[in-house]
Amino acid sequence: MRIVRGIQVSNGIAIGRAFVLEDAARRVSARWIQPGEVETELERLDNALERSRADLNAVYAEAQREMGDEAAKIFLFHLGMLSDPSLVDPMRALVQSERVSAETAVDRTFRELEERFASMPDTAFQTKVNDIEDLADRVLATLGGQRLESLTGVEEDTIIIARDLTPTQTAGFDRNRVIGMATDLGGRTSHTAIVARALGMPAVVGCRELLDAVPHGAAVIIDGDRGSVIIQPDEDTLDRYKGYIEQQETYRLGLRELADMPSVTTDEVEVTLQGNIEFPGEIGPMLELGGSGVGLYRTEFLFLTGATVPTEQDHFEAYTACLDALGPDRALVIRTVDLGADKYTQAQAEFPERNPFLGNRSIRYCLRSLPMFKTQLRAILRASALGNVRIMFPLVSTLAELRHARMILRDVMEDLDEQGVGYDHDLKVGMMVEVPSAAVMARSFAKEVDFFSIGTNDLVQYTLAVDRTNERVANLYQPANPAVLRMIREVVRAGRNGKISVSCCGEAAGDPEYALLLIGLGVRTLSVTGSSVPALKRLVRSVSIKQCERVARKAMSFDSEVEVSAYLRSRARKLVPEAFDGRAVEDRA
Ligand code: PEP
Ligand code: MG
Repeated sequence: MRIVRGIQVSNGIAIGRAFVLEDAARRVSARWIQPGEVETELERLDNALERSRADLNAVYAEAQREMGDEAAKIFLFHLGMLSDPSLVDPMRALVQSERVSAETAVDRTFRELEERFASMPDTAFQTKVNDIEDLADRVLATLGGQRLESLTGVEEDTIIIARDLTPTQTAGFDRNRVIGMATDLGGRTSHTAIVARALGMPAVVGCRELLDAVPHGAAVIIDGDRGSVIIQPDEDTLDRYKGYIEQQETYRLGLRELADMPSVTTDEVEVTLQGNIEFPGEIGPMLELGGSGVGLYRTEFLFLTGATVPTEQDHFEAYTACLDALGPDRALVIRTVDLGADKYTQAQAEFPERNPFLGNRSIRYCLRSLPMFKTQLRAILRASALGNVRIMFPLVSTLAELRHARMILRDVMEDLDEQGVGYDHDLKVGMMVEVPSAAVMARSFAKEVDFFSIGTNDLVQYTLAVDRTNERVANLYQPANPAVLRMIREVVRAGRNGKISVSCCGEAAGDPEYALLLIGLGVRTLSVTGSSVPALKRLVRSVSIKQCERVARKAMSFDSEVEVSAYLRSRARKLVPEAFDGRAVEDRA
């Protein structure tokens, strides 16, 4: 038995057999044709493109059904490319003028495009290289008379092991047979991770050594709760995990009953549980699990999935789709685009950045791309006339920045006033607190916003100087580090002083142990991935505020992360053992 740790991206446990996808390096030898063969070759090329489009349409339709419109848009980019004359015409020209085979023409054209995209300074283009390779493979496979969905014939209970996976591959999995996956590359924000979460498939990425460690056909457990892959587990481990899956099922059924119950502590204090979403389609399932609104809509995914920069109408439609799902009263906190760093930057970025996490990202980027920013603000304001919309700025690090953003918002409001377009004049404006400078200055910020939302994902990385996407320093990435906790405490106090609400929307908030501490520190709204809502509700309904405060006081007395974590673990499991029934226990394997 061997355990490989990776990055947890999609919860759940899967036990199955490994299907190891070797790297399919594209090897196409150049082949020349006779003048008389040109017509036949062009026909082969056209047919292959046509069939690839048809296949992609099917993948798109399937993805729409399984993951919703927004997530499926990834494949519209693929379809758009295959219909784009600037890609297709050069292929035909190569066959005609250089008399090369259809395969050679396809291979050359895609390679040139890949190189062009890879050398562009902007990560928006660089990250599309994968998609282009994916497309090239698809067309070449079709030319060779194969279909790319080589995974359709896999056995039941298959676990895909790969160096990396493209979104097409991931969405093309036969969901009745493929039950989990793990890759050597990738981080939480990679396409594959997004698709896996949207499919609800247990997944671990960033494992680094899997491909060498897993024999094809080996028994494998994916522990998506802990981010580990157990290769050839021994009987004991296998039994424990089997028991655990059963437990999880029962637990899940039990949790359904909780969905409609109020999220209040035993002493009747409400702790609001909201969902973090990337796509409007995630709202329905989140509400079913008992969430009461959207605390964080990561609108940058509108840029990630579309082939072009979203228009005002694209924004507006996405927001109204959210409001349709939420109804008129439930909150929708729309965060303005948080592009850059690990997420796509805009095509307009002029200079490559040496240090993009500290670079022109998020609100900084928006403030320098005013037409794009104003387009989004207009759409948010228009949507605010239709429901309980709030607006939130990401990565604010100085007061000047916040004031600048608010000034732009006022400009856009004035434009709408002049044009007689309606919006909510009392729209609540908040900010993420995810940079240490904002946490330290929270009292000043509290005078100028209506709410704070603590983003632990970034706050941890910037406080501890640990790249949140780098698997090599993952052990130093510690949400329970006392330095981080002191920041959070300060922000909550500042919020209380300034009489504004403070929520937490980082991943850590979805962990019941950590949530116990946050509630004890005074946080009354937690915004988390939908699947984390039920366990949190169970926690909330089982504890009193007094108990949480006692836990927080004690936790704040430690000066090392190890002590804090150990204490939280033991207290949480004593106070609310049932909140942990459905989770993989850390030392399971
Ligand atoms: C955060 O930083 O905690 C956060 C919620 O935002 P994101 O993960 O989108 O950076
Ligand atoms: Mg963030």
